Amino acid sequence: MPDLFLISGGYVYDPANNIDGQVKDLWIENGKVVAPPTDPTIRPARTLNAAGLVIMPGGIDMHCHIAGPKVNAARKMRPEEKRKGEKISRTAVSHSGTMGSVPSTFATGYKYAGLGYTTAFDAAVPPLAARHTHEEFEDTPCIDKGFYVLMGNNHYVMNAIRDAEPERLKHFVAWLLGSAKAYAAKLVNPGGVEVWKQQQGGNVHQIDETVEHFGVTPRQIIQQIARTVDELRLPHSVHIHCNNLGMPGNWTTTLETMRSLEGHRGHMTHIQFHSYGGGEADENTFNSKVTPLAEYVNANKNLTVDVGQVLFGETTSMTGDGPLGYYLANVYKSKWFSADTEMEAGCGIAPIKYKNKSLVHALQWAIGLEWYLMVEDPWRVVMSTDHPNGGSFLAYPQIIRLLMDRGYREEILKTVHPAVRERSQLGDLTRTYTLNEIAIITRAGPARILGLKHKGHLGPGADADITIYTPHENKETMFALPRYVIKAGQILVEEGDIRQEHYGKTLHVAPSYDPSAEQHIGDWFEQFYSIRFRNYPVGQEYLHAAEQVACG
Ligand SMILES: [Zn+2]
Repeated sequence: MPDLFLISGGYVYDPANNIDGQVKDLWIENGKVVAPPTDPTIRPARTLNAAGLVIMPGGIDMHCHIAGPKVNAARKMRPEEKRKGEKISRTAVSHSGTMGSVPSTFATGYKYAGLGYTTAFDAAVPPLAARHTHEEFEDTPCIDKGFYVLMGNNHYVMNAIRDAEPERLKHFVAWLLGSAKAYAAKLVNPGGVEVWKQQQGGNVHQIDETVEHFGVTPRQIIQQIARTVDELRLPHSVHIHCNNLGMPGNWTTTLETMRSLEGHRGHMTHIQFHSYGGGEADENTFNSKVTPLAEYVNANKNLTVDVGQVLFGETTSMTGDGPLGYYLANVYKSKWFSADTEMEAGCGIAPIKYKNKSLVHALQWAIGLEWYLMVEDPWRVVMSTDHPNGGSFLAYPQIIRLLMDRGYREEILKTVHPAVRERSQLGDLTRTYTLNEIAIITRAGPARILGLKHKGHLGPGADADITIYTPHENKETMFALPRYVIKAGQILVEEGDIRQEHYGKTLHVAPSYDPSAEQHIGDWFEQFYSIRFRNYPVGQEYLHAAEQVACG
């Protein structure tokens, strides 16, 4: 007899299969959703009565910071938060942990699962730190996970672009992703981090500035990586953190970056932080430029975005954008951490507190919401806080309420800096999200954008990652505490309590390349890196339950 698990009678929201709240049974076998048995005498081994409950695929966070060197540095850097933060106690099936804006590894896994999220991707890992990141993933329970590897300031990448050797670049990108066991290609302030590493306070200020010593521009890096990623047919497009994050007037850089893709796929991440009008160093001119940018996104189907919503309160900003950490620490007079990774990347960390009475912060909050409400196609906009940069992933239920409940949105709008009404469109936007649209921007959409065919839906063959909610008029209440969370066909969480140990899989890609290209990479590598070439690639043994996602 097959070991069938039946979830019966719930209201199912499965937008990828055009199911919008219909009452439906779900059958599960060996961790996957299966078609209902045709033989009526077949009985399930277990049944969960979900009558009256809302069922969605497990949530997918496609952009967060949960593992790797800068996350770890941020944990160490903020003992004051750990001291007063919630304590996670050990139980028979779970480890202890600490919270604060940067939770410990175990707490991260438990809290994502408790929220109904079953998959998450760290968005910025220097390839040199990939091994460490995989080791941290092994201690991050409950969820499936993966990471994007930084390559927008990689010396080999910039050399290959300068030398106009697209084939060499393609082999390198494929080799790098495979060596790091990463999931996607990430650009962070392309070129700008390298300038920061070269000169005091350095950065690039627009995408046609030349990166010294390499003779390439950010535009060339963006174009060439986007083209390469498409040629390699990676499941996810290039993931772009534009130049000039956080700077007043940066919207033109963002628009120019989107144009520079020339039709290639591109995911513009935490777009909220890149949508600002206004002049340099003058808070009084700061304003929203979502309208022209969203218009461009609406008209160009090669583009997708996640928002990077800001929420009021204290958090930690952490970024692969080295000069940005310096900028923020100067603005907020806070402590600051900066680190460079040889040949590859940089990083900056600074504590931050978003205040609703601050004009800039209130506008950032409004600009994020404008993005959700102004992108017409919910399949191309994804919920994110850029955890923990705009706020914790634990704030997702609050964002859902802001999107679904216009009265609540208006109420909060009244409490923030009054000039927000004049400098953004938020007050005029009447759109509200449906449950089906929430299911798109939190699971079905990110799965599609990531090219994860077996996630984000509940059709036969899908991973049986399922979140079951008790309906509630207050959507924040409803989404904050799912009734059940099912991972790979097992009940993992019941009303916030972890019921069993589960470690999840590491998702990665392994694009093919010409093995003879390793000779050139190896010769270069041995000249410059502080470690040996043969010690660089991460072996399969470092991955916990790896799953290679196919290209093409
Ligand atoms: Zn990020």
